[in-house]
Amino acid sequence: MRSPSLTIIGSDVPPSWQQMLSDLITDPQELLTLLRLDAREKPLGLLAAEQFPLKVPRWFVSRIEPGTWKDPILRQLWPSVEEQIDAPSYVVDPLQESRFNPVPGLLHKYTSRVLLTAAPHCAVHCRYCFRRHFDYQGNAPSRSDWQAAFAHIAADARIEEVLLSGGDPLALSNRQVGWLLEQLEAIPHINTVRIHTRMTIVLPQRIDAELTSMLAASRLNIVLVSHANHAHELSEESDVAFRLLASSFVTLLNQSVILAGVNDSSDTLIALSKALFAQGVLPYYLHLPDAVAGTAHFDVAISRAQALVADMQAQLPGYLVPRLVREEPGNDSKTRYA
Ligand code: SF4
Repeated sequence: MRSPSLTIIGSDVPPSWQQMLSDLITDPQELLTLLRLDAREKPLGLLAAEQFPLKVPRWFVSRIEPGTWKDPILRQLWPSVEEQIDAPSYVVDPLQESRFNPVPGLLHKYTSRVLLTAAPHCAVHCRYCFRRHFDYQGNAPSRSDWQAAFAHIAADARIEEVLLSGGDPLALSNRQVGWLLEQLEAIPHINTVRIHTRMTIVLPQRIDAELTSMLAASRLNIVLVSHANHAHELSEESDVAFRLLASSFVTLLNQSVILAGVNDSSDTLIALSKALFAQGVLPYYLHLPDAVAGTAHFDVAISRAQALVADMQAQLPGYLVPRLVREEPGNDSKTRYA
């Protein structure tokens, strides 16, 4: 795998994660040049790229094998013409999240837990993302707007757990994450904060000592759900990040999406479970793809996904087999298929 230079020109000092987070590749041609690929072989979906632009940390590109369009990470990142195929049952809000959005920045789908769209952006744009059409601008509250969200949580003692999602909550600064934690710690019936992030995978340098000290000091149970879909996404750097988090009493889980052409084979899924476990992370959910507009080419039939999970069950201990699930709007919890 190639390794783009990670030092700042004219300096021997490695860049901070904040500098790396601002050094994103957004120009499709730059990505192809780095990977020695030719766009004539797999044309850019111009409309797709306009609606949901290419975005990937330069560091994460080092996980992609140059010279092949078949790389499973590249397939998750490249805005392809396949996204522009009209598929009638694929819609912009398949989970009907707008129905569960009582105040800006908060989704309340399940009785005992709510989700805060803590950050209006991510470090990476995953082409299959079910929130690729989400109204982040309308759900990017200021601190004073947040008070309505915290008031909603404080007024309902059935809520025990708050999910920080996004966008990616770890795209926020430590000061912002700390402020959110403080607000939640002040609500007596909240006992758990779950952080949903892809940062541990696409920019693991984000997990710094200041963040982990803050998490270790919190009175709340902290659960961190990473998002890796293929073993190639795990790195020495993600291993360091997970070790830091584990030593800060953070429970580490992973969720994946089953994606055609990325991880739709039992060998690939087994390799992912083993690679996660080697870094101290348990596989938690394997999601069936949501029917979001522009993503039909990633679809895997339920029967095929069930067969792959059955293969995993035959070859792995139960704790390394993720639950195959799909979120269905209006249900009290995710629907389990295996
Ligand atoms: S990091 Fe998560 S929220 Fe952001 S684009 Fe990827 S899947 Fe979507």
